[in-house]
Parts: sequence; structure tokens; C-alpha cells
Amino acid sequence: MQITGDNLSTVEMTKRFGGVTAVNGATVTFQHGKVNGLIGPNGSGKTTFFNCVTGMIKPDSGVVTYRGRTIMGKPPHTIARAGIGRSFQLCRIFPRMTVLENLLVAVRTTRLSALMSGSRNPAETERARGWLRRVGIDHLEHTEARNLSYGQQKLLELAGVLMGDPETIMLDEPAGGVNPALIGRIATLVRELNAEGKTFIGTAHGLVDSWG
Ligand code: ADP
Repeated sequence: MQITGDNLSTVEMTKRFGGVTAVNGATVTFQHGKVNGLIGPNGSGKTTFFNCVTGMIKPDSGVVTYRGRTIMGKPPHTIARAGIGRSFQLCRIFPRMTVLENLLVAVRTTRLSALMSGSRNPAETERARGWLRRVGIDHLEHTEARNLSYGQQKLLELAGVLMGDPETIMLDEPAGGVNPALIGRIATLVRELNAEGKTFIGTAHGLVDSWG
């Protein structure tokens, strides 16, 4: 298969866990600049696929390319620096930190310089507040993350992903367990951010109407 352009692609990617083949020779190209979907029932390998692409686990075989370069086998921070951000099926947030602190930690884990500097960076704090406004939870800035609804936690996680300024955003089950009003907000955000140039790859275990 020819590897062209900026697309994120996998060729014959396979991952086995003992006797279970979680991803079986997946050859997929996601279009750069579009909203892409990966749909399949629970247990069909969507999360494993994401974990392989983002470097969290190593595929047994195959190739993963992004913007014409092989990213397979690279560590997660290198893949994040290449421009791919992701969320998790079960939100990854720090429940006892405030909403704002969560975003400042999110950026520190993707930028070593910020991690080393210790003190709070006013520009980064303003950027975090900007994303909180954008996802619609700025009024909850000082609330501990554990007190947010599940949908609000998903929005917080998305804001954390956006803090890393990725050009491609992989969302694992963004609508899973979220009430319809917040699904609508996430879908609107995805459409707006896509219009601003961000590529999306989202998983779902069924078709979600509001993504249409
Ligand atoms: P999906 O995201 O589509 O629900 P998963 O990627 O989570 O699917 O799982 C695909 C298959 O791989 C399932 O059978 C699951 O039990 C298995 N699996 C996933 N992760 C592991 C793991 N770390 N160890 C063993 N089996 C796993």
C-alpha cells in the first residue's frame, strides 16, 4: 500500500494478547483534516488499536505512519509531540485536583520544560482558562474534578488534550456514558475544532445520532 500525504495510516497492524487476537491485520487510513470514525462492538479491538497507534502498547507486527513517517515503536511522548493527542474510554483525570489544576498538570506531562519549572506559568494558566471556556466548564475552575458529572469530566479531559495543541485528536468512546445534552456539546466542539483544522478519530460501539 502506498503511504501518501498527511494521513494517519496503519498497514497490517496486529496485536495479540496470549490467544486473543485483539487487532487482526488492520489496514486503515484516516483522512487528515476530517472527522473519522472507528465503529465496532465492545471487545472488537478499538481501544487496543488506539493504544497501538499512540505508542502505549507495541503491536506485534505491521506499520503505523503519520505525515509520511513511521511512528510505530516510538514512545507515547514522541507520538504526542508528532501531533497526536488522545482521550481514554475511562476518563483519565486527577479526581482530587481542581479543574484548572488538572489542565496545568495535563500540559506538564506533555512538555518537559514546564514539568521542570515547578511554579505556575501565568500564560499557561490563561491558556487553560481559555480551553475551559471553550469546552464550557470555566465556571467549575475551582471545583475538584471528582465532583464533576461524567460528561463534564469528559469535557475536562478533552480540554487537557487540547492543552497539548495536537493536530490530530483520537477520542476513545467520547459519547460513552455521557448524557445527551453533553454529547451534543462534545459533538459541536468536534465540528468547530475540525473547521479550525483539527483532525479527529473517534470510536463508538454503535452509531451516535448527534455526530451526524
Ligand atoms: P474495544 O475497545 O473495541 O472494546 P478492546 O481493544 O478493549 O476492544 O479489546 C479487544 C480484545 O482484546 C478483548 O477481547 C479484550 O478482552 C482483549 N484485551 C484488551 N486488552 C487486553 C490486555 N491488556 N490483556 C489481555 N487481553 C486484552
